[in-house]
Amino acid sequence: MTQRAAAVVAWRATHQKQIAPPPPPPPPPTWEPVNMIGQLPTRPGGWETASYPYRSRDINRVRRFRVHYTAGPTSASVHSIASYQVGPTAQADFPAIAYHLLVEGNGRVNWCHDFDKRVWGSAAPGANEMDIHCCYTGDYEPTPIQIEGMRNALAWAERRRGFTLELLAHRTDYATNCPGPTWEQWRDQLR
Ligand SMILES: [Zn+2]
Repeated sequence: MTQRAAAVVAWRATHQKQIAPPPPPPPPPTWEPVNMIGQLPTRPGGWETASYPYRSRDINRVRRFRVHYTAGPTSASVHSIASYQVGPTAQADFPAIAYHLLVEGNGRVNWCHDFDKRVWGSAAPGANEMDIHCCYTGDYEPTPIQIEGMRNALAWAERRRGFTLELLAHRTDYATNCPGPTWEQWRDQLR
């Protein structure tokens, strides 16, 4: 090998890593979110007795993982998000929190609804029939620990469904900024 060829090899060894970092190791198969099903505030009247509760849906159609943000502070808790969404100032009469999964600022992943529950996560056609809605707290982009949380959540959701889910954002097919302007820059870090 010429000196020049050797230099090229050495350059690649150090620089190609920066261009294409190796994927992080998959999360351990024992990882689980915090199960908050039935433990969060619901619209007054109660979960099943609300005038229009979330219906059950055909689990066989659930094959996508859709990412959202809260458009609020990263420090918000899952309780505060659920309280807001069932309160008088919410943008819809949500019977309960409108996501299946909610990732808080400390990376904690909260499991809020089983996947056969048709929560109102997106008004895009078919979204609430097909999507597992996963939201992080924040109004711009997730923190590294939230990305790790969402990565774990996606892998866990795929283990539960038994196949690879289609990954998309709220704004993929709907006029919204959700889940933030830099989505394309961090989406590949979710798996
Ligand atoms: Zn959204």
